[in-house]
Amino acid sequence: MPLPLQPVIDHIEQDFDGAIQRLQDLLRIPSISTDPTFNDQTRAAAQWVADDLKGIGFDVSLRDTPGHPMVVAHHDGPTGEDVPHILYYGHYDVQPPDPMELWETGPFEPTIADSPHGKKIVGRGAVDDKGQLMTFIEAFRAWKKVHDALPVKVTVMLEGEEESGSPSLDPFLNENKEELAADVCVVCDTAMWNIDTPAITYMLRGLVYIEATLHGPNCDLHSGVYGGSLRNPINALCKILGELIDDDGVVQIPDFYDDVLPLGDSEKAQWESLGFDESAFLGEIGINTPFGEKGQSTLQRVWSRPTCDINGIHGGYIGEGAKTVIGAHATAKISCRLVANQDPGTIHENLLAFLTQRTPKGYRWEFKNHGTSPAIRIPTDSPYLEAAKEGLKETYGRPAVLIGCGGSIPLVGSIQQILGFESLLVGFGLDDDRMHSPNEKFELRCLQMGIKSHAAILNRFAMISQEALASASSM
Ligand SMILES: [Zn+2]
Repeated sequence: MPLPLQPVIDHIEQDFDGAIQRLQDLLRIPSISTDPTFNDQTRAAAQWVADDLKGIGFDVSLRDTPGHPMVVAHHDGPTGEDVPHILYYGHYDVQPPDPMELWETGPFEPTIADSPHGKKIVGRGAVDDKGQLMTFIEAFRAWKKVHDALPVKVTVMLEGEEESGSPSLDPFLNENKEELAADVCVVCDTAMWNIDTPAITYMLRGLVYIEATLHGPNCDLHSGVYGGSLRNPINALCKILGELIDDDGVVQIPDFYDDVLPLGDSEKAQWESLGFDESAFLGEIGINTPFGEKGQSTLQRVWSRPTCDINGIHGGYIGEGAKTVIGAHATAKISCRLVANQDPGTIHENLLAFLTQRTPKGYRWEFKNHGTSPAIRIPTDSPYLEAAKEGLKETYGRPAVLIGCGGSIPLVGSIQQILGFESLLVGFGLDDDRMHSPNEKFELRCLQMGIKSHAAILNRFAMISQEALASASSM
């Protein structure tokens, strides 16, 4: 028998002050994972969430890794019922607060302040990711309080190294495959379309990142003595880099677009209906002229088209003042954002081939690989995604939109490759939440609606099995 959702939602409203206080307690712990001077505090944050989950009734353990501990917690579903098993992922570590002087209140003294949307909570980690992970933890708490049960079987995995590159994540997943097995992984650190419109992210771009150094003469040279007698490695590198993209914004790496799938008509229509405001998007960063691949809208280019960008360039004399030198070598950091169906290995090879074909006679390249990851496209016909859509719709009174994301979340690929199941990306952040920046905030409305949404989605997850059971028994 499905348990009623409404009392759970009522309880969330009644206990909202409690939820805010608990989030403030967690935000007071400076769990800066990248800085070893905060190792004790990072562990303290892990212990805090572990204790909180234990208080709700989870079977919790703090698991040591070569870096910061992993929090793993399990809770059974209702006895005797065949319900889905959901893995929830979040991270309890935060970015360093610097630059400190730009904070209006202490980064680890979480403060409630006025916002155009009502009230907001300000502090490092408010949205990324402590506020977001508390949305599902509070939903579990409310279900337990009201019904003394969770409607589905739940495993929670919270890491403490997300902001420092997640070095322990893949090994941990590999070592604990069986324990972490589930039907789907709910990932919470994504954004809404806007404060009234919930969103499910289903496209994430991948990445190829290289560093290329062009070596010419065997030492730096006097440009008066040698200028005019040989090819300057920096001039040569700039010319080659200039050929990477043509005047129409089309990347010239061989076969670059071969595997890119065209956007479906319904997808195109849905994205167009979002009313993306290009001039606001660019205006915020002081740009009034968009540029990119011809024939694509800005939103399409950011979500569904690959790119090639030079991320850094150096060589010769880069100190203050003038020095008339011809550098012996020149270096560029180059990355490509990839989309679904593109093979990072092939793109990597073709990028190197593009550069190698243009090597000035007698010169040589030195390449470094800074990592590759494939793009992710989550199937939109899964019953879990459908359940999440239903839960969001009943919470917000309007349908959730399916959105892309120009960035990457490596965890989603790791879950797919190592644990063998898909993720569901539902988050309640807003674009102006200042993630990683001073005065990071989370709207209290997003916090409360996030908690309610997770409570409703849990309920919908349980219905999947009811329907599956019904169709199975009628066969
Ligand atoms: Zn972050």
